[in-house]
Amino acid sequence: MTVWIETELCNGCKRCIKACPYGAVELKDGKARILDNCTSCGTCIEVCKQKAIQTDAEPRTIPDFSDWKGVWVFAEQREGILSRASLELLGKAQSLARDLGQEVSAVLLGHQVSGLAKALFEYGANHVYLAQHEALADYRTVAYAKVIGELIAQYRPNILLMGATHIGRDLAPRISRRVGVGLTADCTELSIDPDEKILLQTRPAFGGNLMATIANRYSRPQMATVRPGVMEAVQTTGHNGDIISHKVSLSENEIGTKILERFREKKKGVSLADARVIVAGGRGVGSEAGMKLLFSLAEAMGGEVAGTRIIVEAGWLPVERQVGQTGQTVRPEIYIACGISGAIQHRAGMLGSRYVIAINKDPGAPIFQVADWGIVGDLHQVVPELTRAVSEGNRI
Ligand SMILES: Cc1cc2nc3c(=O)[nH]c(=O)nc-3n(C[C@H](O)[C@H](O)[C@H](O)COP(=O)(O)OP(=O)(O)OC[C@H]3O[C@@H](n4cnc5c(N)ncnc54)[C@H](O)[C@@H]3O)c2cc1C
Repeated sequence: MTVWIETELCNGCKRCIKACPYGAVELKDGKARILDNCTSCGTCIEVCKQKAIQTDAEPRTIPDFSDWKGVWVFAEQREGILSRASLELLGKAQSLARDLGQEVSAVLLGHQVSGLAKALFEYGANHVYLAQHEALADYRTVAYAKVIGELIAQYRPNILLMGATHIGRDLAPRISRRVGVGLTADCTELSIDPDEKILLQTRPAFGGNLMATIANRYSRPQMATVRPGVMEAVQTTGHNGDIISHKVSLSENEIGTKILERFREKKKGVSLADARVIVAGGRGVGSEAGMKLLFSLAEAMGGEVAGTRIIVEAGWLPVERQVGQTGQTVRPEIYIACGISGAIQHRAGMLGSRYVIAINKDPGAPIFQVADWGIVGDLHQVVPELTRAVSEGNRI
């Protein structure tokens, strides 16, 4: 496959040079020139308004996917308890399915887990694909990947979503490899393109410095994982659906792994995921001693204390209290950001908060762009004042 320039058409506008992700186009004597490291990706061809860049590659056609239907969510369960991430994904799946005019299905694997279907219906599934077998009692990669691969081949879903949990992060790439499709991991937003009706999968890229939106036009199912806490679970009591049982045939030989012992590491510290109020501190707190102000406010409000990566690295808080792209994703009712600038990597972890209150002495701090209420001031004065007001039962 070759890419070349029709020099008489090229006007030297440099659009192709800016667009080339590989730095494989240069300008020579006022005309674009393709270099040896060109991968023939075609990006330059798309941006050239002069039609001066040519290729001998056949244009890629989009296959007919009209019989690939439905938004599927992997219903992750351990010891008969559904993961919160799966229920959250069912919430998102409902809005995606609505935009597509399709239905939501949950994929439930395990042993004697049919009782969980009721909850899956209540959280938005129209159908539950149920695969039960002794060999599926505990999660094992090969067994789960095989069964879900079979379900995909038989029922042809349009979209398959999984939580970016320990299990989801292990299973999703195995399935995507098995069925030969791409996978966008750790998405923070999912939506449907209104024209093409394809899944737009948004996630932080380049170290979190920008958000990339990825779409898959050429294969099905469109697969994505989403971090727990990013989407909102929606429960409708009494909502019902149907169960589609899948006959499982698995032998221990083909699975190749055995569970010898199950143990749970004692969880250290706090669970920010369940906190209704979070008082979060950033570099503006100034010192470890300054964190006491935040703990007092959190205590008065019945909340937890969290922080930015900067203060975790400074040792003012343990790592399990870090919020953000490389920390936890939280969705409290109230998030009070004290002395936090609002870097994109921090916002990635707290944007699902219902109300954000920001305290910062810099009125131009980006955190104010995502805050419902902003207080411009020194947190060392504002936070004790808030604590006093809350403790005395005054309105804030
Ligand atoms: C790959 C990658 C991953 C990352 N992951 C994360 C992550 O998960 N979580 C995260 O938080 N960061 C993460 N970061 C770091 C992120 O880019 C920012 O550096 C960090 O969030 C900034 O922390 P901060 O707001 O505490 O500090 P700063 O950006 O320094 O902001 C301090 C703020 O405090 C204000 N201030 C100062 N004194 C006072 C005062 N007395 N009263 C009120 N306001 C005051 C200042 O005006 C300023 O706005 C990551 C970075 C990278 C590259």
